[in-house]
Amino acid sequence: MKDLMSLFYRKLLTAALTLFLCVEWGPLNAERSRWGIASGDPFVKEVVLTFDDGPREHGMQELMAVLGEHGIHATFFLVGKFAERYAPITLSLAAAGHEIANHSYTHPKLYTLWVEKIMREAERCDEVVEALGLRKTRFLRPPGGSFNIKIFNAMRRMGLRLGLWSLNSADYTGRPTEEIVHLVTRSVKPGTVVLMHSGVPNTVTALPQIIRELHAQGYHFVRLEDLWNGGRT
Ligand SMILES: [Zn+2]
Repeated sequence: MKDLMSLFYRKLLTAALTLFLCVEWGPLNAERSRWGIASGDPFVKEVVLTFDDGPREHGMQELMAVLGEHGIHATFFLVGKFAERYAPITLSLAAAGHEIANHSYTHPKLYTLWVEKIMREAERCDEVVEALGLRKTRFLRPPGGSFNIKIFNAMRRMGLRLGLWSLNSADYTGRPTEEIVHLVTRSVKPGTVVLMHSGVPNTVTALPQIIRELHAQGYHFVRLEDLWNGGRT
């Protein structure tokens, strides 16, 4: 009976430890802090457009054209294997002045991995960017925005910062253009970081209206690193 109880407690401890290490934390809304950024100064009319999961085979030229027409620099969280596969697109994003940030190499659920694997995912993405002669990025956005203590640990060792968001456009759900426009233009506040995705046609068609409306409201568009550095550059 005693053995049975100790086995029970051992199992309970293992289960608790597994839960602690593997359960996802977040996404988290937080102001700029030591570990990362999810939004900016709530009194400055700046907004950041972030695009995840690119570069994609299709839709990138259209996306870059819209941003270019309006003179906007955005932040692209790239998946390393796509940045490698579509290297010319990666290079043109950087050449257009957009910020290239880290979204892992294969887009796994990072919170389920061990620290070394998490670091390898982030490093491989950085290596692709560096091999293309581009500047190594400061921000990591874990796929899904979920993170835990292992991800913090990996980031601390690598000197990376979390780059999160404060407004989810949910463009990946296939919602119509008008819904994306309304959600974003009604919800943006000073310092908002908007989550969008590369290669979503409705996002590209929504952007001109979003940009025009927010410009009319007096907003400036900046990159995440500009927000981190305290404003427009
Ligand atoms: Zn993603």
